[in-house]
Amino acid sequence: MSGFEIAGAEPAPGGRFGAGGEFGGQYVAETLMPAIAELEAAWRVARVDPAFLAEYHALLTDYVGRPSRLTLAGRLSAEVGARVYLKREDLNHTGAHKINNCIGQALLARRMGKRRLIAETGAGQHGVATATVAALFGMPCDVYMGAEDVARQALNVFRMRLLGARVIPVESGSRTLKDAMNEAMRDWVTNVGDTFYLIGSVAGPHPYPWMVRELQSVIGREVGPQLEAAEGRGPDALIACVGGGSNAAGLFAPFVADPRVRLFGVEAAGDGVGTGRHAATLSAGRIGVLHGSKSYVLTHERGDEVGQIAEAHSISAGLDYPGVGPEHAAWKADGRVTYVARTDADALAALQRLARAEGILCALETAHAVAALDEVVATVGQGSIVVIGLSGRGDKDMHSVAKALGVAL
Ligand SMILES: *Cc1c(COP(=O)(O)O)cnc(C)c1O
Repeated sequence: MSGFEIAGAEPAPGGRFGAGGEFGGQYVAETLMPAIAELEAAWRVARVDPAFLAEYHALLTDYVGRPSRLTLAGRLSAEVGARVYLKREDLNHTGAHKINNCIGQALLARRMGKRRLIAETGAGQHGVATATVAALFGMPCDVYMGAEDVARQALNVFRMRLLGARVIPVESGSRTLKDAMNEAMRDWVTNVGDTFYLIGSVAGPHPYPWMVRELQSVIGREVGPQLEAAEGRGPDALIACVGGGSNAAGLFAPFVADPRVRLFGVEAAGDGVGTGRHAATLSAGRIGVLHGSKSYVLTHERGDEVGQIAEAHSISAGLDYPGVGPEHAAWKADGRVTYVARTDADALAALQRLARAEGILCALETAHAVAALDEVVATVGQGSIVVIGLSGRGDKDMHSVAKALGVAL
């Protein structure tokens, strides 16, 4: 297995993305600089070390179940007049793409001699994936979660605890994800000697956005040969949902340098971008700093909190993040990726459409990508080959879907 170098360009020094190096960086307390420097140095060595890559790929095969399938969506293809393929991250162990990244970071933690994992989680999906790899590697694991989220996501809290992790409710601020992020950073500063902070998306200070994109790029690197075998050529377009942006970045990365491939990222428009209740950070946010890097963020536009980070809203808990990875900000700026947004109602309709056409119940996050299919086919043309990143399965969302459809379970 070769290195990750085909997965995309390395950011400029200091983790800068974009022509002017405007996005990314390391906006952290002085006390954390040694920790992120140590992490970057370890990552630079590991990413091209055949022993690390062999271990990583062995676990992706034997534990996660990779390569994930590329399924031709036959009935959906006929409906839209294109060759539509689904990249099936829903078939991974734990039911989504997040495990790809967690396995890689846990391996790196062990290699660096860190004995303890910490993470923060909003809805709990990244917390569950982290607790899973902590159990696999026999490492103690603390997951910070806003007290509000702990109450809302009882099932994922239970899962993490069954897996042996400690879930720490955060009572400060709005008692949600951004407060949990602050607590996790505080823990890391205090315990840098033995603790590894496992970030779940292409966000956070350098080197996280780069490292997570490369670890998730296995998604896109599998698509090329799979499509070559099925169609004898590469894709015309790729579609993926964007929360923090990791499944999209992983799918897109190997194709970014190929101008023949159109790339579409789909954000969550919640109740509608005009309502203020959404998570469409790139579509409707502003440039700012969150979680240690510069990118687009959602801020309050009115009242005495103007400029402060606002809460995101989406029916899909995994897209409910008021920031987005800095590389996506750069791809937006140079026009390489087209970003659109879909509402809760669009996602619900797309989830049902995919279920009935293909027998696949996808996650609500994923349904946002499916909801953009008609627009993408209209843009790239009938007869095109379109790959949708099927980031996760829908089991976790059945209560939300039933509630939104007015069905009592
Ligand atoms: C967490 C999650 C997402 C959003 O995260 P990204 O970093 O944007 O990929 C999307 N889909 C599923 C199924 C998720 O669990």
